[in-house]
Amino acid sequence: IIVIGSGLAGLTATIEAYQTAKKIYSGEIEKNHSFPKIYLIEKEKNIGGNSAKATSGINGALTKYQKELGIEDSLEQFSKDTLKSGGNLNVPSLVNTLVHDSKDAVEWLAQFDLILSAISQCGGHEIPRTHRQAPRADGKPSPVGWNIISGLRNYIQNDLKDHVEIMLNTRVQKILTSEDGSKVIGVQYETTNLETKETKQDTLAAKAVILASGGYAHDWTDTSLLRRFGEKSLENVPTTNGPFATGDGVKMGTAIGAALVNMDKVQIHPTGFIKLADPFNPTKFLAPEALRGYGGILLNSEGQRFVNELNTRDVVSEAIFKNCSNVVMKHYDAKQEKEIEKKVVRAWLIMNEEGAKAFDIGSINFYAKVGNIQIIDGIEKVSELTNIPVDTLKATFKKYNEDADKGSDEFGKTRFPVKFAEDNKFYVSAITPSIHYTMGGLAINSIGEILKPRKKVDVNILLNTPTTSDDQVDLKPVLALYGAGEVTGGVHGKNRLAGNSLLECAVFGRQAGRRAAESIL
Ligand SMILES: Cc1cc2nc3c(=O)[nH]c(=O)nc-3n(C[C@H](O)[C@H](O)[C@H](O)COP(=O)(O)OP(=O)(O)OC[C@H]3O[C@@H](n4cnc5c(N)ncnc54)[C@H](O)[C@@H]3O)c2cc1C
Repeated sequence: IIVIGSGLAGLTATIEAYQTAKKIYSGEIEKNHSFPKIYLIEKEKNIGGNSAKATSGINGALTKYQKELGIEDSLEQFSKDTLKSGGNLNVPSLVNTLVHDSKDAVEWLAQFDLILSAISQCGGHEIPRTHRQAPRADGKPSPVGWNIISGLRNYIQNDLKDHVEIMLNTRVQKILTSEDGSKVIGVQYETTNLETKETKQDTLAAKAVILASGGYAHDWTDTSLLRRFGEKSLENVPTTNGPFATGDGVKMGTAIGAALVNMDKVQIHPTGFIKLADPFNPTKFLAPEALRGYGGILLNSEGQRFVNELNTRDVVSEAIFKNCSNVVMKHYDAKQEKEIEKKVVRAWLIMNEEGAKAFDIGSINFYAKVGNIQIIDGIEKVSELTNIPVDTLKATFKKYNEDADKGSDEFGKTRFPVKFAEDNKFYVSAITPSIHYTMGGLAINSIGEILKPRKKVDVNILLNTPTTSDDQVDLKPVLALYGAGEVTGGVHGKNRLAGNSLLECAVFGRQAGRRAAESIL
């Protein structure tokens, strides 16, 4: 079995494929020479992809952690929230699997010492269900994506070393099919020796291939999927994604006839940090959704709120574009030895200590250390940093506290995690909307099989195959090809809910790994 990509989808698929095979052989592994070898291929030098960057958490409904905290959730509500955020452009059967398998997926992670018992309520969720580990007692950062990837990676490297070969610095270039094109039979790849820079091309045969190569939110290559499918206005928007997010899997999948879904749906996250010392860098650290979940508020340059901070990402992003565009920022560019002035989209994200502590003070201190958050005492200092008059800030906080007492405001906010005081310690950052996630991708079914049209069709039709209806009558599986994670499309519709991507990786990574192993044994 070949797994392409080592983010959460790839690691999960690898482990599940192994564990499924182990069950089938019921412990007779060592004796059985036909026990499958799994090749985990990663083009970067490190394991983890964008999954390692995740900071808000992974969703689950009806989990034991929710029960411990007395949170009452339901599969129906989770499903409703996901479909509402997706504008009903989601494939219903995929949402169904996502939601139903969510409890198992979150609890499955516990075997890797990942106890995700801290739960927050992120934008678009009616119930708190975004899970991560509790903040560490020693105050060190505890980023959820990094923790999850480390847990799974350690397990694979230590416990599965006889069964899984990890191939780093190895880019899969092509998926190979049988002569009649009916079945996937392996991959072509190129390995780079980082010291000599020499490259070597080769092929690897497999009975099943799992695509887990992530999305295209950093794809400005010559074959850019963002340029091809996204709106023109995206060209000036920064990204939170790593440079590896170039949609390789989507391109390789379509090259062998796989269908695509929702390719034009690109998620703009409302809050990428603008580092004040490097404001024009097109790659941004993400200011996680949970910062607002724990009480962060957004102000425009005039010191006014303009949106329910807990609304879905598309709504908050749109409000920022509308209310915070054309802000002029200046920065001395040491390379060019001159001051550069640019118009940017910028809002201020303001938290207080109560919210920062509830989120994870270790991570907050890390953001402050790298210059993404300024920690300052008292409202006067906030005024100095933001150039918003003190009286305006006072009025804004006063009104916010009154709305909190009332339980509602003019933007539809009904949950007010904290109230503000003038002498608070404030955590202030400049933020800007950033390309964050690509909802589109290869069409799959609920068991992670990648789909293609039943009849041979023109490539342009392929790219627009409507697969939002549940029956997917016109599609059939590409034999021996599975997919999970951001490389696939259809789960999230037009807008992904916070926490649903890690969940998708875990749920469909397990499905794909299980089916791949079952299919070959
Ligand atoms: C900053 C940030 C924060 C986020 N926070 C959250 C969160 O809190 N909760 C949540 O649910 N989601 C979050 N997301 C989204 C989520 O992390 C990702 O969408 C998801 O983890 C994608 O996982 P994946 O396994 O599909 O892809 P990735 O984790 O991106 O992994 C794909 C891997 O495939 C490799 N690859 C690509 N092409 C090839 C090739 N040709 N050959 C070999 N290898 C290849 C890449 O190098 C990469 O390592 C966040 C995303 C970002 C960027």
